[in-house]
Amino acid sequence: MEFPSWEVALLTALVVASVAVFALHLWPRLQAILAGPSDRIRTDRLPRRLMVAAKEVLLQTRVISGRPIAGAMHAAVFGGFLIFALETIDHFSRPYGVHFLDALFGDAVPAYKAVLVVWAILVSIGIVGLAFRRFVLVKVSPDPKSYSSGFVALLILVLMLTFLWTQVPPPDSFAKANWWTHALIILVFPHVILRSKHFHILMAPINIFFRTERLAELRPLDLDIENLPEDAEPSFGLEKIADLAWKQRMDYLSCVECKRCTDQCPSHLAGQELDPRAFILTGRDAILGLAGTEPVIGNVISEKALGQCTSCGACEAACPVGIEHLQTLTGAKRAQTLALGTGMVATNFLETIGRLGNPFGELTNVRTKLIEELSIPYYQPGETEYLLWLGCVWGYNADARSSLEAMVKILETAGASYGVLKEESCSGHHSRRQGEELQFQTLAGENIGRFKEAKARKVIAPCPHCLHTLGREYPTLDDELELEVTHHSQVIQDLQRRGDIRLDPSRHKGTTTTYHDPCYLGRYEGVYDAPRDLIRAAGLEVTEMDRHGRRAMCCGGGSAGFMSQTQEGNRVDQTRKNHVKATGAQLLVTGCPECKMMLHTATEQTKDLAELVADALVTPAS
Ligand code: SF4
Ligand code: SF4
Repeated sequence: MEFPSWEVALLTALVVASVAVFALHLWPRLQAILAGPSDRIRTDRLPRRLMVAAKEVLLQTRVISGRPIAGAMHAAVFGGFLIFALETIDHFSRPYGVHFLDALFGDAVPAYKAVLVVWAILVSIGIVGLAFRRFVLVKVSPDPKSYSSGFVALLILVLMLTFLWTQVPPPDSFAKANWWTHALIILVFPHVILRSKHFHILMAPINIFFRTERLAELRPLDLDIENLPEDAEPSFGLEKIADLAWKQRMDYLSCVECKRCTDQCPSHLAGQELDPRAFILTGRDAILGLAGTEPVIGNVISEKALGQCTSCGACEAACPVGIEHLQTLTGAKRAQTLALGTGMVATNFLETIGRLGNPFGELTNVRTKLIEELSIPYYQPGETEYLLWLGCVWGYNADARSSLEAMVKILETAGASYGVLKEESCSGHHSRRQGEELQFQTLAGENIGRFKEAKARKVIAPCPHCLHTLGREYPTLDDELELEVTHHSQVIQDLQRRGDIRLDPSRHKGTTTTYHDPCYLGRYEGVYDAPRDLIRAAGLEVTEMDRHGRRAMCCGGGSAGFMSQTQEGNRVDQTRKNHVKATGAQLLVTGCPECKMMLHTATEQTKDLAELVADALVTPAS
């Protein structure tokens, strides 16, 4: 195909104009990101970051998981962007007399073109399928009124068709018009991307690269104001738009509006106001349109919606573009407690912990008496192997006594060396989730001192909230702390595998059973198998709820919900109880004392894993 000089000049002018206008409109978005402070180092562990980004971007693992059909179609379209990159360079270099593909591939050009033909067909099928899902299957559509999505789908389809036309011999008389249509769409495409949710094409790989390694990884606030370095500003959470870190701003601009987060949010599922996608999108409007002095609460998320978050992490775990919802949510809650002093939903809970070190309002002698009644040994430094952490529910709630008794029975039967601390303070888990960082750090400091004094290394935590806080968060406060914190289900499984305990599966036969994955054991720590293996070893089969494993729904007990009971209207625990009931199970097994408190009325019986195992124990005498 020949290109006269006026066509070359026109193309050159259009390319220059397109790049210039794109840069002009990209700049305000970059400025909005760069205006945010840094909340942590995000360039450490470089090989890991690159591996994760490669896996999630190139292989589209998160996009495909959870929505396999739509995800596969998206992967086909995404693959097209990569595979067509060289063809696009060739397309624009030809008017200048450069045959880019010939120079690159030589005789292998027909093979590359054959791959392109196959992929163009896949992309066409994928984009039509995605458009069908969005505009026709409205029940599953993330937004049937997203006209920019329809326009982008049309552009991509025409791009593929205009390419395929070039491959149909003999060359047709419309070849030049076809060439220009293809070129003009490519020149227009970046501008549509910039003004729509399709900006994620540029942002998602970068956002995923900078994401924290674990869910909701919180950094301690430096609250020692008087000793802050001279150039450091004290931080009390996300009070104003200016406090939003650059990563949070990048999050807001990366959202692909897929609604996966909202579809997983327990509060939203229960019919409450909280909608994770909605506050990410209002965050986008806030950083692009509001002054830095405007408040976050009210402009990014409402006070009511903020109070409904259980910190379950389902939104963040589902997000395919690396958005960290909980950094915004916890940051706003920190501002409520540390800077504003209003809007908190668990003030009684926090006040009781502040006075007594536990949320049940009990004196420490309640725990001491329980330890004596059950003849539980105290941990002896240098002698005892396992430190059995009781946590507040096992230590102070009379209804949890059967679970603790069962755990003691298992450890005694196994002949394990274990003991408890003379005193424990609340781990501070819920205080931290409620933004009460000062209370969290105070409680953590007390417990860290006790762990160090006891020279404790191996800690058994029956409560997943404590498991997460002791094991993941305490070490960020004290470099010298060397704790190996394990959930009791994993310890029991180890004892069973070593042959220290034996179970008789016939004891439970015939009881239909379901298992509720606690958020902080499953999603946060990835422990899904040990509880199920134990249930099977105890002679029961698990009838799974629709939402289980990574997609399990929160019981509503997170962020102090198990005590503060602040939810109005449709409650999260009621929705989860309906999921339990739908399995028809007679027995619900939980691996978290708080989940047990929340869900105990869902079935005829609710048991902690330890109770289930203790009931099936073959004691040496039996
Ligand atoms: S952490 Fe859980 S409750 Fe909070 S917004 Fe995310 S999904 Fe909803
Ligand atoms: S925040 Fe993530 S999961 Fe939610 S709509 Fe945006 S891209 Fe999708």
